[in-house]
Amino acid sequence: MKYITFLCAIFIAFNAYCQITKPEVTEVWQPEPRVVQAAKNEPPSDAVILFDGKNLDTWESIKEGPAQWTIEDDHFTVIKGTGDIQTKEHFGSVQLHLEWRTPTIIEGEGQGRGNSGVFFQNRYEVQILDSYQNRTYSNGQAGSVYKQHSPLVNAMRAPGKWQVYDIIFTQPIFNKDSMKISPGYLTVFHNGVLIQNHVEVYGTTEYIGMPKNLAHGEGPIQLQDHGNPVSYRNIWVRRLD
Ligand code: MG
Repeated sequence: MKYITFLCAIFIAFNAYCQITKPEVTEVWQPEPRVVQAAKNEPPSDAVILFDGKNLDTWESIKEGPAQWTIEDDHFTVIKGTGDIQTKEHFGSVQLHLEWRTPTIIEGEGQGRGNSGVFFQNRYEVQILDSYQNRTYSNGQAGSVYKQHSPLVNAMRAPGKWQVYDIIFTQPIFNKDSMKISPGYLTVFHNGVLIQNHVEVYGTTEYIGMPKNLAHGEGPIQLQDHGNPVSYRNIWVRRLD
């Protein structure tokens, strides 16, 4: 009997040894990532196109009615006083690609120079500003999560040059009691340079005072009319939920 137990123990040990030394044991085959076409200089095949140079049909004014901003060639431009615009479609967590340009002719300084902004779910702003040799408070310059996180570096191109944002936004989660149980996060690349690395969104963007955290669900992507003629082109988004 002892001999059989000994043989069994040897067998089990040998079997375990074989299991952990086989490379196949740690291979994962399911689920298989779905295919996304990612052609050069094209939006990915699963992207929602928010602007491709043709029209502003996917946008509306936050004051109600159609978006008033003007389209010229492949881009559109903020018209001062017409108000922010927002997507008709609502989004949760997303990957956003957006190209923007501040005016070649420099007017104003600090926060008054080429100011706009992209808001996620109408609440959380990544600042758009002419931050090329234009000092302002660090947590309010281009690429800041406004009044919450300064960008890691200043990757601005000169006024009149096109700038590129690639942003990953993870939406905050609220439970059925309206308590925030998981914060939002932002990762931002500016002209291909990492400037926000998975930073926590503390709550709503506020010019004065502390961020707020009232429960909400999906929301529009919003572009700010801050009174400066900032232009936009080639905007697309991928849902990450
Ligand atoms: Mg702004």
